[in-house]
Amino acid sequence: RAREEGGDMAARYRSHMSSDAAQRLATEHALHRALAQQEFVLHYQPQVCLKTGRILGVEALIRWQDPHFGLVPPGRFIPIAEETGLIVPITEWVLATACAQAGSWQRAGMPGITMAVNISARLFNHGDLLGIVDHALMAAGLEARFLEIEITEGVIMRDLDHTTDLLRELRRRGVRASVDDFGTGYCALGYLRDFPLDVVKIDRSFVQRLGADVRDEAVTATIIQIAHTFALHVVAEGAETASQVRRLVALDCDALQGYYFSRPVPAEECSRLLRNPQPFAVLEGAGWR
Ligand code: C2E
Ligand code: MG
Ligand code: MG
Ligand code: MG
Repeated sequence: RAREEGGDMAARYRSHMSSDAAQRLATEHALHRALAQQEFVLHYQPQVCLKTGRILGVEALIRWQDPHFGLVPPGRFIPIAEETGLIVPITEWVLATACAQAGSWQRAGMPGITMAVNISARLFNHGDLLGIVDHALMAAGLEARFLEIEITEGVIMRDLDHTTDLLRELRRRGVRASVDDFGTGYCALGYLRDFPLDVVKIDRSFVQRLGADVRDEAVTATIIQIAHTFALHVVAEGAETASQVRRLVALDCDALQGYYFSRPVPAEECSRLLRNPQPFAVLEGAGWR
């Protein structure tokens, strides 16, 4: 076993030194092994209602617990998984695990918590997303309305007819859909009206410049207003400071997912937050009830 691990290490160091292609191949092999040996974990980041301070839902965010390198963030392996097609079995695992967790939270008396899962372009456009979703919900005994699928603007725009069909099928089941990283792509605001969507997540780049750049504030205000016109729920991503939170409350944003309240945390820690009816301190003078 030690020898095997040593060989593995050496291979990784070599791959570190060599070309991009070799690096990718090494990562691809490592990802196969990670799946087989269950080295992936999900962390969960709360989405907090800006009116009540309560947790409305969480986003499941994957990490790779590598035996040598520790916790690897998704930005380092999801793009390679996407290119190689491994994203499909990885997302099956993510959906199954996230739905099972959500089901157990519902049964443990933390009802109504929505579980958001990121769906990449490859699976949305070419995979059997509906089959995987149905299977995950059934295996977990989770009601469809507690699952939310996150897709980016780029994924929405890739094939408009396909997007319409798939989002309609998801809605028919009761699964919610959100647009992730909104504002960074080229999705016309009108699409927010035309597609069966439930949530808009304003990208962190706008949120983090609130108060520093009036143009970002104007974009954020406009997204919120238009989303509300189309009866969509607005979640701001990535607020870290009280002043950003105050601006979001003033702009009538519905909910917030950001370090200000909580980083993504392991399931156990998230359970503790969910058990607490008032997990987060109320912001003074921000109009919270
Ligand atoms: P995302 O879906 O936009 O997820 C939000 C990211 O912003 C997370 O990074 C989260 O940790 C980070 N974040 C949240 N609040 C703050 C904040 O206040 N400040 C800062 N600086 N960052 C904040 P993470 O977990 O590294 O995930 C990065 C991206 O990887 C995700 O962006 C998503 O696109 C992708 N990803 C994560 N899990 C999965 C997955 O299971 N499947 C797929 N296909 N993609 C995933
Ligand atoms: Mg997301
Ligand atoms: Mg995002
Ligand atoms: Mg992102």
